[in-house]
Amino acid sequence: MKTIPVIESSLPPFEEYTEEIKCLWDSRFLTNMGIKHQTLEKQLKEYLGSDNITMFTNGHMALEGALEALDMKGEVITTPFTFASTTHAIVRKGLTPVFCDIKSSDGTIDEAKIEALITEKTCAIVPVHVYGHMCNVEAIEAISKKHHLKVIYDAAHAFGVTYKGQSAANFGDISMFSFHATKVFNTIEGGALVYQDPALERKLYYVKNFGIKNQDEVVTVGGNAKMNEFQAAMGICNLRHLNEFIAKRKSLYESYMAQLQDVAGITTFEIQQNVVSNYSYFPILVEGFALSRDELKEQLEAQGIMTRKYFYPLVSDYACYRDQYDSSKTPVARHFAECALTLPLYDILEQEDVDRICNAIKALGSTK
Ligand SMILES: *Cc1c(COP(=O)(O)O)cnc(C)c1O
Repeated sequence: MKTIPVIESSLPPFEEYTEEIKCLWDSRFLTNMGIKHQTLEKQLKEYLGSDNITMFTNGHMALEGALEALDMKGEVITTPFTFASTTHAIVRKGLTPVFCDIKSSDGTIDEAKIEALITEKTCAIVPVHVYGHMCNVEAIEAISKKHHLKVIYDAAHAFGVTYKGQSAANFGDISMFSFHATKVFNTIEGGALVYQDPALERKLYYVKNFGIKNQDEVVTVGGNAKMNEFQAAMGICNLRHLNEFIAKRKSLYESYMAQLQDVAGITTFEIQQNVVSNYSYFPILVEGFALSRDELKEQLEAQGIMTRKYFYPLVSDYACYRDQYDSSKTPVARHFAECALTLPLYDILEQEDVDRICNAIKALGSTK
């Protein structure tokens, strides 16, 4: 039987991409904010409903760039149930992560537990819109205003998500998007920051381009994190197809929901109130099922169905962090790391694949 991968990158038709990059052979201008970069940036401004956007070579460098441009120092409140990038960016910028637990309803930061973690050293909150589920942006804004903290959202999963009609990009001081090959919208590798304060544009430009002001002046110790023209061209093509990609994901997501909602021991996640989703992942929690999460993963794999323990291990349990943190202090996050599994979901997945996956899970659930 055919293997069903857990993820497949979205791609435009081959000729569409080659057509898009043809002019680069005439210009021989391959990077440094050329025509493709400028075009994609303009299109993203429209799509995300913001004038303030800076593109990067990947989401991780964008996140580091956000912390750098805001000149953050001290402690940052974040969650351990995320991809390595979130915490690594904080640490690599010389900051100290302070882990807050998540909510069992959606896996995002538990806003009720943030204030107890604030000290005089706290400078920012870095919440994650896990699986595209929106954090409680209103409560987080109230806390940040009260304590004068910056808010940088890790919105890597939330491109195309809206809350009360507003793009996920427009909450907090800065939101980071990832355009990695595995995300809903990709530029092969890529990322962007959307921010409220237009003064950040200059700073972010310096951060990603060596601090170069002009041919005669270098003004800050910037790094290199520019998006190149081939990445931007892929973005231009994929953006044309984004609505179809999301529509296809939506129909598969709804099919998963219909088939798995009532399976004993499998927890699914409804789309949140007031949220238009991008259907980026189909996560389940394996709790009280006939098999453990790891056994279910293994059994599905034996049938050619690939899944991902996303996220496992918990960041605070990584070899590089576990001496400094105690993951029993974030019990909900730890529980998610033990029970969460994401099922295949992408635009070229077929309805019959989803049926096969759901039938396999149901059959494994009734084995004992
Ligand atoms: C993908 C991802 C990132 C990093 O993005 P890259 O573009 O791969 O650097 C950061 N945070 C989360 C939650 C992600 O899923």
